[in-house]
Amino acid sequence: MSEEACIFCKIIAGVIPAPHLATNDEAIAIADISPVAPTHYLIVPRRHEENAVALHRGNPAELGALFALVDELTSREGIADYRLVFNTGAGAGQSVFHAHLHLIAGRAFSWPPG
Ligand code: 5GP
Ligand code: ZN
Repeated sequence: MSEEACIFCKIIAGVIPAPHLATNDEAIAIADISPVAPTHYLIVPRRHEENAVALHRGNPAELGALFALVDELTSREGIADYRLVFNTGAGAGQSVFHAHLHLIAGRAFSWPPG
């Protein structure tokens, strides 16, 4: 997918509006449009890479910036129990091929995941 066609690049550029719940220089947090739990945020790096490992290869510090937003959101909202997910590859459920970290909370989660 080209960056021009990427939905998350458009959100980061402000072409598609989405409230920014938290931001830093490398990433933004938005609410998932189709939440799977009472709390479902997406932590999205500003730089387009297809998945989390590609992001790491390009600049490992950007992964730290994603986790800084997890820290900010969970601290601010008093979220103690949550799940973090990088779906990687269509077979693992990835549907947007711009790296992003799901932060989901607010209900019990089963293991193993479906
Ligand atoms: P994936 O399936 O790639 O792991 O996650 C992509 C997520 O992006 C899905 O949970 C989906 O609901 C969410 N999503 C897709 N399009 C949009 C959008 O335009 N805005 C927002 N906020 N979330 C989106
Ligand atoms: Zn993108």
